[in-house]
Amino acid sequence: MGKADLHTHTSASDGALHATELLKKIKEKGLKTVAITDHDTIKGYLEGKEMAAELGIELIPGVEMTALWNNREVHLLAYMFDENNEDFLMLLRRQKRARILRMGAIVEYLKSTGIDIDLDEIRAESGHGNVGRPHAAAVLIKKGYVGGVSEAFIRYLSSEKLKDIKTEYASIEEVIKITQLAAGVISLAHPGPIYSRKEIEALLEKGLDGIECIHPSHNFNVQRTFKKLAESKNLLITGGSDYHGTGKSDYDPYLGIVTIGEKYIASLKRLSERRKN
Ligand code: AMP
Ligand code: ZN
Ligand code: FE
Ligand code: FE
Repeated sequence: MGKADLHTHTSASDGALHATELLKKIKEKGLKTVAITDHDTIKGYLEGKEMAAELGIELIPGVEMTALWNNREVHLLAYMFDENNEDFLMLLRRQKRARILRMGAIVEYLKSTGIDIDLDEIRAESGHGNVGRPHAAAVLIKKGYVGGVSEAFIRYLSSEKLKDIKTEYASIEEVIKITQLAAGVISLAHPGPIYSRKEIEALLEKGLDGIECIHPSHNFNVQRTFKKLAESKNLLITGGSDYHGTGKSDYDPYLGIVTIGEKYIASLKRLSERRKN
């Protein structure tokens, strides 16, 4: 049985590698199936298609969506959606705009703490990709305000520091509904380090299709607990490395190591097929 990685990032969001480079690396690791799940964009997925075909890698449609739930930003992994579905594409355009507006508000916050920074610098850091906090962190490092990414998050960019910033990300209900109407399936990303058991139950009740049980932030016991939970609720099991390739993420060593079996991909596909009819 081949192995799959259903959680990777490219330079279309906050990953370091272009999709083509990522796929070459994935080929070296011997993976059969991969989803490129950039933050709120399918650009990396689209950019990777040709190279995946050339390398004989199965690239499945994917994206890591940011959704609002009780004033919190939650990450949801969407797969196997119809990439031409107009409502789905419109949602991605909205999310892109929400990211830019939010980064504008983050810049205002940083300025209010005395930091000399502007939105253009951060957008330049994000290149052709969707802007995100790691790009702001990179500018803070370059300018000498912090020594590294972790420090940037702890001192300036954590959810706690930014809790008063209102964002225009879509609600969890909308993200789930629009994804499923586009024949997509949607899984709760890396729940382990983030939510209490009660919160997970509440999130799942929103109508999610699966749980990302396998993730570098989940130790073996956590994986097993989530797998049991998914099975007991008849939910899909997803997993991947959350590779960003920046060399700064704690998860980067796990490309090719944190993987799932291909049988789980078949379940995703079955559910998506059912939604097409
Ligand atoms: P954003 O998309 O702007 O919400 O930024 C979220 C991304 O920032 C995550 O996907 C991670 O890549 C990165 N990130 C979040 N928290 C941290 C942290 N404490 N240290 C380093 N990177 C982080
Ligand atoms: Zn990220
Ligand atoms: Fe995430
Ligand atoms: Fe991620």
